[in-house]
Amino acid sequence: MTNQLFGQMMDSPLLISNILDSASRHHAKMEIVSKRVEGDIHRYTISELHIRSKKLAQALEYLGLKMGSRIGTLAWNGYRHLEIYYGVSGSGLVCHTINPRLFPEQIAYIIQHAEDEIIFFDLSFRTLVEHLKPLCPLVKKWICLIDENLQATSVENIENYETFIANSSGVYEWPSFDERCASSLCYTSGTTGNPKGALYSHRSTILHSYASALPDSLCLSAMDVILPIVPMFHVNAWGIPYSSLLVGANLVLPGEKLDGKSIYDLLESEKVTFSAGVPTVWAGVIQYIKNNHLKFNHFKRVVIGGSACPPAMMKTFQDLGVEVIHAWGMTELSPLGTVAKPKSSDNCKTKEALELIHQKQGRVIFGVDMKIVDGDLNKLPHDGKAFGDLNVKGPWVINQYFKVNESALKDGWFPTGDVANIDSDGHMQITDRSKDVIKSGGEWISSIDLENIAAGHPLVTMAACIAVAHSKWGERPLLIVEKKSELTISEEELKNDILKFFEGKIAQWWIPDDIVFVDKIPLTATGKMQKMKLREQFKDYLLPTL
Ligand code: AMP
Repeated sequence: MTNQLFGQMMDSPLLISNILDSASRHHAKMEIVSKRVEGDIHRYTISELHIRSKKLAQALEYLGLKMGSRIGTLAWNGYRHLEIYYGVSGSGLVCHTINPRLFPEQIAYIIQHAEDEIIFFDLSFRTLVEHLKPLCPLVKKWICLIDENLQATSVENIENYETFIANSSGVYEWPSFDERCASSLCYTSGTTGNPKGALYSHRSTILHSYASALPDSLCLSAMDVILPIVPMFHVNAWGIPYSSLLVGANLVLPGEKLDGKSIYDLLESEKVTFSAGVPTVWAGVIQYIKNNHLKFNHFKRVVIGGSACPPAMMKTFQDLGVEVIHAWGMTELSPLGTVAKPKSSDNCKTKEALELIHQKQGRVIFGVDMKIVDGDLNKLPHDGKAFGDLNVKGPWVINQYFKVNESALKDGWFPTGDVANIDSDGHMQITDRSKDVIKSGGEWISSIDLENIAAGHPLVTMAACIAVAHSKWGERPLLIVEKKSELTISEEELKNDILKFFEGKIAQWWIPDDIVFVDKIPLTATGKMQKMKLREQFKDYLLPTL
């Protein structure tokens, strides 16, 4: 278009350093509380975070690193990790958060692939680091996040974080650059093949932070005390290290211990109003509360995502006075895509109708667009019934993976690998990961639906549903159950009881053909049920003939 008329507004790039500058200027009393790996509680204000992030940026500058160089972290949620988030990205370097729960060989692959030049790590990962050092020759410095007077390890060439930043003054101007420059890097869990990197930009991060704070999104405010349980090594803790500073909320960082008691104690002692985590972590908290007859005194809202939140968990939180915000996203989406919130035009006059909306994965937040398609990429109707491959696009969705020289898109959309339906009001419901769908006699059975129902049985801790080969139907569902420990009935009785529990809740032919009990359902490095492992374990399972 010729003769474009440009607006006459200030044109400043959207940079991560702006968030920190603004928070320290306008929310100077904002507090960051960290449960340290050493066991104690550490507190400081945003002003100290500001100065120390700048000291780190200066210390990195002295090393003469090129803009865009990758700096890795192997760390829990804590104040030093937050300083790295801001000090590294703010100075034009890329903060590469690494999931320490992966296998050491996978971590070494990721570090080498990202070409990390420095790795910052928490004391709890010193043995891992000793293992990784010879496997990662490109790393120039390994820096341990501990106090000045402590020695990290006897291994050579490990530096101390406090010593590293000690000689910097903190008098530092953040550089200004193109907002499309890379800010951080996170590799997907990589259930098949090698992990792949999502490289976020300053622009995508800031836009995602705005969007995630909106009322029909996570509804964050300066009145909140926010505890991100989702780790800072998993999709930037769902963006909370940025969005909480953007709104000026107090931040509580839980460190290493994520068991029910530790989380509950922090929620209470720090008067946390908002938290975020995957269902498996919350299952531990709920168990602890029930066993000890406790209640929440301050906790108001929790965002649950990463895998489907079972309705039974939502109900328990509701009874405890906590609103569950069910959200869907993925590493490739920074991660937020949809949030389950009703709208005025929704037909939710009854309690049940409203519950159904909360249980779905939700509506897109402005910025993200979504559609469902069939195998030939034809658009399917948004009628709440048709289901197909969920495709998304928007300014915080990747268009290619790091160092992969081809687009990750199909027809300009990112194929998520999830199967979903979308109703006429725009509420999306994930029915499965495409590889987890159970294809029985040409029809599809949703493993998530079966798991959600089973999780509502009072004697079930966790349930995973997988497809097992069947001579007549192709595949049939097998339910794998981790049962509650305080069981007074036999496994056979429990099995029959769970099968009966399904009746009337789903079509008869969806009911699993069999149930097996395991001591523990294996979890992935991000706390999701590891169905690939279960499929491998039960690949030759013989279903009973009916
Ligand atoms: P990750 O990239 O590790 O965060 O995994 C993203 C995947 O987790 C998505 O593609 C979904 O399969 C799954 N997921 C995330 N949130 C939900 C949710 N609320 N319900 C069901 N599945 C989810």
